[in-house]
Amino acid sequence: MSENAQDRFVGLRGELKYDEPMARHTTWRVGGPAERYYAPADLDDLVVFLRQLPEHEPLFWLGLGSNILVRDGGLRGTVIAYFGALNDISHLGNGLVKVGAGLASAKVARFCAKQGLVGAEFLCGIPGAMGGALAMNAGAFGGETWELVKKVEVIRHNGELIQRQTDNYKVAYRSVEAPLPGEWFVGAWLQLREGNSEEAMMRIRALLSRRSDTQPTQQPNAGSVFRNPAGDYAARLIEACGLKGKCVGGACVSTKHANFIVNTGNASSLDVEKLIAKVAMTVKKKHGVELLREVQVVGVNA
Ligand SMILES: Cc1cc2nc3c(=O)[nH]c(=O)nc-3n(C[C@H](O)[C@H](O)[C@H](O)COP(=O)(O)OP(=O)(O)OC[C@H]3O[C@@H](n4cnc5c(N)ncnc54)[C@H](O)[C@@H]3O)c2cc1C
Repeated sequence: MSENAQDRFVGLRGELKYDEPMARHTTWRVGGPAERYYAPADLDDLVVFLRQLPEHEPLFWLGLGSNILVRDGGLRGTVIAYFGALNDISHLGNGLVKVGAGLASAKVARFCAKQGLVGAEFLCGIPGAMGGALAMNAGAFGGETWELVKKVEVIRHNGELIQRQTDNYKVAYRSVEAPLPGEWFVGAWLQLREGNSEEAMMRIRALLSRRSDTQPTQQPNAGSVFRNPAGDYAARLIEACGLKGKCVGGACVSTKHANFIVNTGNASSLDVEKLIAKVAMTVKKKHGVELLREVQVVGVNA
């Protein structure tokens, strides 16, 4: 898409781009262009932008792109890149913390620990935005995002802001079902417990070092590709199939962690998608287990 008559937006303070390569905005470093890409300056600016968008414009909400595979043909419509914009954070007292969706999850973990609030340490190793953690019910080391959530703030396609209670959502392992389509998280209220700040910071350091021991931190990836099936681990099943190190083009099953696929430098999205299919098919054949993807595949083929 090039700038056209329809794009006479007024009063914007954010950054508007066209044909923006999504490979720049995903941790896999693959993905074709977004037709339109808007990085709002703040929440008010986001509302101004959304109010001027055509009603049926497809929207894609991008956090830090750490759980998505954008196909090589890119994304139609508009990507809303809110990371770093919706980034207020404050302790309201009694362990209640208001967080903006555009904060890094790790920053929320450290903020809470420094305030002497415990329960959010697991967020330290999740390399996404709070908006992405809310959308995915991100979790690690026994903790899950929605165990902390008291209330959320969402925005609609027309820029309307509303608050929702947690019982409006169907929340499960790595899955959050909203009551209505067309609403996106802009913030949340998290309930933490009062605790010891130094101990929480120590737990954060310990969790981070465990991660670098077990994950391929040096190569572009999107974390666990598949959800763990009930009572088992996707990585165990994949490794037992002898798939570690297997490649399609520039995409390879990590030799460090079998549930990770790494981009060895020149992978296309299609390479990654084909390898995901190959892994799922092999595990189904050998173990009879249907692995479900955790990463979200979006966009169109080239
Ligand atoms: C090295 C590595 C380790 C990881 N470890 C873990 C882990 O331990 N546990 C875990 O759960 N995940 C893990 N992940 C996956 C990923 O980091 C999480 O799912 C994270 O919460 C995604 O956040 P994001 O901001 O990157 O989301 P994105 O990848 O940008 O988006 C993910 C999905 O959420 C939607 N979304 C994003 N923002 C919003 C919003 N504001 N409102 C509504 N929908 C939105 C997107 O449209 C997309 O569908 C890991 C990833 C990597 C690369």
